[in-house]
Amino acid sequence: MSNIEQTLSIIKPDAVERNLAEKIKEKFLENELIIKNQKKIQITREEAAEFYKVHQTKPFYDRLCNYLSSGPIVVMILEGENAITVNRKIMGATDPKQADDGTIRKEFGISIDKNSVHGSDSQDNAKKEINFFFS
Ligand code: GDP
Repeated sequence: MSNIEQTLSIIKPDAVERNLAEKIKEKFLENELIIKNQKKIQITREEAAEFYKVHQTKPFYDRLCNYLSSGPIVVMILEGENAITVNRKIMGATDPKQADDGTIRKEFGISIDKNSVHGSDSQDNAKKEINFFFS
């Protein structure tokens, strides 16, 4: 049975700054994820804090919010068969050093902070995150 899902992807400031957006989008297309909607924006510190509020008790929260609001990002709705899981797989582990060969974070990530992409990790979060940027 088919399971077409939508997920939210963000190309983070480190990757936009290094002009990697098109190369990253190719990875999605190669894996049969369609870009349904996309925009290049810069968010405020407050918006980043709202977006990442699940992490508000973490020691890296402040750094994370400063970073996501530090420069332009590309936010996208990706759609395809099992899009949430497929996107997480293409992204690779949070820490680029731990990421598998061929993943975006392995190829392009600089560090656990500057790890080039975000992707929703569940159906619930995908809905919330898509709404956050596209409503
Ligand atoms: P993701 O879903 O793989 O992006 O990872 P998380 O949702 O757990 O964390 C959000 C972001 O916080 C990650 O993408 C990292 O850029 C950042 N981050 C910074 N320091 C740390 C850390 O020590 N641990 C984790 N898990 N994330 C960190």
